[in-house]
Amino acid sequence: MSTQMVMHSKQPQVPFVDLAAQYRTIAEEISETTSRVIQEADFILGREVSLFEEEFAAFCEAKYAVGVDSGTSALELALRAYDIGPGDEVITAANSFIASALAISHAGATPVLVDVDPYTHTMDVMAIESSITPRTKAVLPVHLYGHPAHMDPIRQLADKHGLVIIEDACQAHGARYKGKRTGSLGHAAAFSFYPGKNLGAYGDGGIVVTNDRGIAKRLEMLRNYGQKEKYQHLFRGYNRRLDTLQAAVLRVKLKYLEKWNAARRWNAVLYHKSLEGRGVVLPGEAGGAESVWHLYVIRSERRDMLREHLISRGISAGIHYPIPIHLQPAYRDLGYKRGDFPVTESCAQQVLSLPMYAEITQSQIEYVANTIGSFLSAGQDSQPGSKPLGKRTNASA
Ligand SMILES: *Cc1c(COP(=O)(O)O)cnc(C)c1O
Repeated sequence: MSTQMVMHSKQPQVPFVDLAAQYRTIAEEISETTSRVIQEADFILGREVSLFEEEFAAFCEAKYAVGVDSGTSALELALRAYDIGPGDEVITAANSFIASALAISHAGATPVLVDVDPYTHTMDVMAIESSITPRTKAVLPVHLYGHPAHMDPIRQLADKHGLVIIEDACQAHGARYKGKRTGSLGHAAAFSFYPGKNLGAYGDGGIVVTNDRGIAKRLEMLRNYGQKEKYQHLFRGYNRRLDTLQAAVLRVKLKYLEKWNAARRWNAVLYHKSLEGRGVVLPGEAGGAESVWHLYVIRSERRDMLREHLISRGISAGIHYPIPIHLQPAYRDLGYKRGDFPVTESCAQQVLSLPMYAEITQSQIEYVANTIGSFLSAGQDSQPGSKPLGKRTNASA
């Protein structure tokens, strides 16, 4: 131990994400496009917004996209566009970022939570079916960590019960399921451009993607005071527009997204290879899914100690998410209790997100994997009671 401390006196630093590293690769294009927008003073629903909408819809292999001010707004306005509101129930995953549920609440509807499957951490399809009631209007599958949810069985269920599917694709720009892009797998899909997402703005932003022209038209009004033509307001809409400046930034970045996602996929393969047999549970994908690895999430029964150790070795790691939605004070009134969603609750105890971004280097990944491996093998001797974890590897990444 002490010799290692000496060796690591100038230890490498591995940040969780490195937005500055990405910026350095596109700095010139960004300053050219942002100064042009500012000179043109084309700030609100400017030309860059409609160009970006066209380009992002094409990227998703869908027909329409409507830019809004965040991923949360994208989810809420998509629900509102389908007239989902008070008295309606919308089924989503307990194991998600809280915004999946907040959007349902903000639309006036009631979130109904279900557990996830232990392999992909996306919605458990059997649990969806048993949660459907006469009030259920929609299902909101979350493509968590960039892994598409089990969309074929979800679509079959939705068709059988006449439900709308709103994809929460906020972590899955560019992922595919059976060859089709997220964003084209349901009735509408919401994406976030929060800076740390696979496609991130320099501030907040979001977009709704759909193949339904009527829904796209409604969304254009919903985000812009319910306005059809200037000063003609058909209903009480909102101010939830995507800024022209952010759209201009996103147009530059969209050109590189395939390349960045390919780098993330390659990094995930490297993590798989370097972590295999090292005592952690590796992440898995649904059959037919091609993840874009927004996060690389392992599981360990010794997660908290492992995380502390990584931090002491200069490695940042995150927890997505430490408190499940059904145990948040914000949702106490839904009446859920500890034990309701066992897989989600064990995820909250065990998941650890390792550093993941396009620019991370092979030697950084190997350093992370070796640090994990040596910590866990050292720990096994001193912890006679700890049983080895079941290992799950995945060939499809
Ligand atoms: C980021 C995120 C959101 C919300 O997006 P914002 O742009 O932060 O509002 C919703 N759902 C999931 C799964 C997310 O990761």
